[in-house]
Amino acid sequence: MYIVDLIEKKKNNLKLSKEEIKYIIDSYVNEEIKDYQMSSLLMAICINGLDSEETYNLTECMLKSGKTIDLTSVSGIKVDKHSTGGVGDKTTLIVAPIVASLGIPVAKMSGRGLGYTGGTIDKLESIPGFNVNVNIDDFIEQVKKINICISTTSSDLAPADKKIYALRDVTGTVSSKSLIAASIMSKKLATGADKILLDVKYGEGALIKNVEDAIDLAKLMVYIGNVHGKETRALITNMNYPLGNMVGNALEIKEVIEVLNNRGNKDLRDLSIVLATYMVSMSKNIDFISAQGEVLKALKSGAAYQKFLELVGTQGGDLSKLGVSSNVVPVKTSISGYINNINALKIAESALKLGSGRMTKEDSIDMGVGVEIVKNIGEYVNAGDIIAKVYVGNKPIDYAEVENAFVIESEKKDKEPIIYGIIR
Ligand code: URA
Repeated sequence: MYIVDLIEKKKNNLKLSKEEIKYIIDSYVNEEIKDYQMSSLLMAICINGLDSEETYNLTECMLKSGKTIDLTSVSGIKVDKHSTGGVGDKTTLIVAPIVASLGIPVAKMSGRGLGYTGGTIDKLESIPGFNVNVNIDDFIEQVKKINICISTTSSDLAPADKKIYALRDVTGTVSSKSLIAASIMSKKLATGADKILLDVKYGEGALIKNVEDAIDLAKLMVYIGNVHGKETRALITNMNYPLGNMVGNALEIKEVIEVLNNRGNKDLRDLSIVLATYMVSMSKNIDFISAQGEVLKALKSGAAYQKFLELVGTQGGDLSKLGVSSNVVPVKTSISGYINNINALKIAESALKLGSGRMTKEDSIDMGVGVEIVKNIGEYVNAGDIIAKVYVGNKPIDYAEVENAFVIESEKKDKEPIIYGIIR
């Protein structure tokens, strides 16, 4: 086989066989195929796409490029949860302790944020002392002992994805649904869970901008998971506005604590409850209503919060040292009216400029900075009201950009729901 022939084939919109895809992945990992050749092929895939069989085969080959975690020694049905990424998305840190407190093992490998979307691992690292680098043996032991462990994704899992993703990131080839599906599912299948729950986000603050594309992506990933023998479901959720009131690492941990104590933002609480309910229903094989009853009980009784504290304590974190910036700048609205939207991307851009995220993998993060939304969608505000607070570190921003994220109009519009639907 010769890579140039395969690039030509995809350029002419022809189907790649399983053997050809295997050759591409193996040769790229072995550095026999060069970055410039792979970039060209990725662009041809972006333009002409892969069908579901090609996407499945690509996922398989990427999965087989590395190790898989064996969780069979952990009893119970393990359900993994994965979000395609959003602004203020801290649901893993709420959902995982809820589910674990109900006796279900949660063996969660998470990633760091890059660009506008935050990562669970960065949020956890804002808790002083929290160890996110747990080796596989300790990871499995901790899940057996306290039902929950959250660690960084092992570098041995799907190494082909790591190499290809780094190239996609700098060659304008991230947006292909097939490439996203294969990237996410190769990693999910490598982590050894029995079932998979996906949160596929669409909107201004998401990788996928419109709901139709999010549905296509969700269908593709559900197909790959199911064909692989792992029951897979995908919620389609809204990322046109930030999820919750806080965007920024330590601020988001504070919000997690709020929700686990039955307070806080309604959308964040509602979505977390639905995600946890699907995980419980999939793990225990029970109907949605019964599962929801268990989830609400875990929240109300404080069991979920206690499990969160146990997780933090076991991994060495000290919540009493959680630090948010004390330099808090209020942002006021200059007009009166109803808040009809809060642009997730604009809030994310401001948070990023403050230093809450990284534009390149090498950037360091300021854990204590971020944006707090004080007035929410649907509320009426008068000119001069405080609508947001900005927690500033050593990178000041233009506060007008935060104000401009708020869409304030004289007529009240219906708010888009947080959950659009489910693909199973
Ligand atoms: N997240 C991933 O892990 N891979 C992608 O391609 C996009 C989002």
